[in-house]
Amino acid sequence: MYSEVLRVRDLRVYYHTPRGPVKAVNGVSFAVGTRERFGLVGESGSGKSTIALALLRLIKPPGKIEGGEILLDDLNLLALPDEEMRKVRLAVIALVAQGAMNSLNPVLRVKDQIYDALQDHGVQLSSQEFDERVRDLLERVGLRREVATMYPHELSGGMKQRVCIAIAISLRPKLIIADEPTSALDVVVQRQVMETLEKVQQDLGASIILIGHDMGLMAQTVERLGVMYAGDLVEVASVSDIFREPLHPYTRLLIASLPSFDQKGVFRGIPGLPPSLLNRAPGCPFYPRCPQAMERCAIEEPPLREVQPKRWVACHLY
Ligand code: SF4
Repeated sequence: MYSEVLRVRDLRVYYHTPRGPVKAVNGVSFAVGTRERFGLVGESGSGKSTIALALLRLIKPPGKIEGGEILLDDLNLLALPDEEMRKVRLAVIALVAQGAMNSLNPVLRVKDQIYDALQDHGVQLSSQEFDERVRDLLERVGLRREVATMYPHELSGGMKQRVCIAIAISLRPKLIIADEPTSALDVVVQRQVMETLEKVQQDLGASIILIGHDMGLMAQTVERLGVMYAGDLVEVASVSDIFREPLHPYTRLLIASLPSFDQKGVFRGIPGLPPSLLNRAPGCPFYPRCPQAMERCAIEEPPLREVQPKRWVACHLY
């Protein structure tokens, strides 16, 4: 039976500048199922990483969550006191950030970094229990137990990113947010790290939100996909539906821009640039680049609607 672990409704995140608010996330709604792997894909600046930070309530000024609701199981995250939210991070919702491996403390051994994370959340263990916990966590992410006593500079990029995954799952969170977790790694290591993430997600029975811009990686990893454009979610559907029949004109162009075997790896870009998020123009944000734009699109912003069973699209064509 399908059940939801996360429900986001009408989330708005603005960055306040002297020239006015930059509407980085402009009323986004979506849900993630229990044990589901959900992807958020879009160009840089489309709002996907801002959503990740908002889910963890880590938006810093001049950014601000202006409105909406984030329900994680029975927790209303935007209503939690700061101290409660601090406990929820890692314990219930954990982040594997872009370049997380560079955030490891260079002067602490791996096991001490895991210890810090556990202690910070009030976990009390004997030193034997702690060593067992570290060994178990390292095994889950495919690292040898000797890694526990190593320093970050003794590890490869892929190993460091696995350590970050081990820390992220140390309290068995229900939801793991992975924001471009493999962006700094080469393709072979990328695949291995993604396989590790999938494995730990399945072991824990957790859900994942994978954030990225690489449609190919998304297709291999997630079950359902949300496509972001200029702070809006423009299409949400299963990966198979999106690749079989993309509905939103932007999604179509994204998929058409992927290199195929015939084209021998040539990328075809999407002409034009995303709109400014400062003083947004009325109408559909994709209007200036859309090959199917109509008169109405310049005036009226299309809402995200369920246009086929389990397929949501924000476009006047439907
Ligand atoms: Fe294109 Fe209009 Fe659809 Fe926007 S609403 S994507 S401009 S057809």
